[in-house]
Amino acid sequence: MADLETLRAEVATWLRANAPASIAGTMLTNDEGIWGGRKAVFPSLDAKRWLETMAARGWTAPTWPREYGGAGLSPDEAKVVQQELARLRLPPPLVGFGLTMIGPTLLQFGTEEQRREHLPKICRGEIRWCQGYSEPGAGSDLAALDTRAVLDGDHLVVTGQKVWTSYADESDWIFALVRTDPIAKKQEGITFLLIDMASPGVSVRPIRLISGASPFCETYFDGVRVPLRNVVSKMNAGWTVAKALLGHERSMIADVFGGGAPRKGKGSALAALARRYVGDENGRVGDPVLRDQIAQADLDTKCLALTVQRSRDAMKAGHRPGPETSMFKYTATELNERRHELMIRIAGPQGLGWEGEGFASDELAMTRAWLRSRGNSIEGGTSEIQLNVIAKRVLGLPD
Ligand SMILES: Cc1cc2nc3c(=O)[nH]c(=O)nc-3n(C[C@H](O)[C@H](O)[C@H](O)COP(=O)(O)OP(=O)(O)OC[C@H]3O[C@@H](n4cnc5c(N)ncnc54)[C@H](O)[C@@H]3O)c2cc1C
Repeated sequence: MADLETLRAEVATWLRANAPASIAGTMLTNDEGIWGGRKAVFPSLDAKRWLETMAARGWTAPTWPREYGGAGLSPDEAKVVQQELARLRLPPPLVGFGLTMIGPTLLQFGTEEQRREHLPKICRGEIRWCQGYSEPGAGSDLAALDTRAVLDGDHLVVTGQKVWTSYADESDWIFALVRTDPIAKKQEGITFLLIDMASPGVSVRPIRLISGASPFCETYFDGVRVPLRNVVSKMNAGWTVAKALLGHERSMIADVFGGGAPRKGKGSALAALARRYVGDENGRVGDPVLRDQIAQADLDTKCLALTVQRSRDAMKAGHRPGPETSMFKYTATELNERRHELMIRIAGPQGLGWEGEGFASDELAMTRAWLRSRGNSIEGGTSEIQLNVIAKRVLGLPD
């Protein structure tokens, strides 16, 4: 414990000395953070410097081994870094599927060559990754995927279509599931492949959403040649890798939506919103039903954050994310949708603006965030699928 407190003091001193003053208290771009990649657009030179400085220290991926660009910290030590960043109101220098999904998967299943090639570039924010799982005929039933990869010498030739590929148009590489054995049982004919999006034959088409944003794309592969060294694990053994990655993805989603419980002394964002829109002159909210709903949502958020924390502690003991991540994914996303519904109900007509002078910018952002939240219970596997996983693999119930 004393060691951790020494580390805390060192981390705080280093961060104060190295973090550009202009980025404290910001999320760097909108509210999303820096995703890196060859096409990255930094909101300021300081944001770029912040990423470079943190990457040089290994603190974009603090727990990854040093030889792959991390800092080799234990989970407890990494938590100290996170806590100090939060305390000093410094944003994470880098976010994205490289750090949260493919990186941990390569650490578990990748060859030494794959780790050395890809992990340092993820840590430095040089390469941005996207996820090629879903297809027009394969979403919940992911194993039905039909993108073919045919062996040709020391290459696989990939042809097919992925859909809902988040940020494919801004990414450099894609981790994709492809069918390499069309005759085997469907889960046993799938290979997990790393594909450079700059390869001839890859094309992407953005899909426009109700919120006005285009966060995802259709991704096409037309005879794309991929070296065999880009197979993760073995040919036709991709289903195991795919499921492990989904565990990381669901933990990440639960973290994003479930880690932000109202903190002691900070008050509730929902209560503040209610005071603003339906409070009396003293800021009191008269409607007992609304008060009850706000209290329930805040309590549920707090309980979830504590449960996620308990699971993180189990991970420190070497436990990898398993089917229980479905519980967090389900609860966190359903709760996030409920909170957004409540926000819109509180704001009334002011929460339904799209554009125009009658709405403040935070009101317009609230509308868009509400619409975006509708996808939370679908992305990373729908709520119904999470309930199926919980029933079968956590509770052991029969089909
Ligand atoms: C915001 C967002 C981002 C995404 N990003 C990506 C990405 O980057 N990469 C990627 O590969 N995919 C991505 N997806 C796709 C996502 O993984 C799929 O949409 C999801 O798995 C559901 O598949 P589907 O859309 O084909 O729906 P379907 O599988 O057709 O499901 C339709 C409905 O039927 C229900 N259903 C289906 N099967 C069952 C069953 N067995 N039991 C009970 N109910 C069932 C579902 O719950 C759902 O309500 C994203 C989706 C969203 C919304």
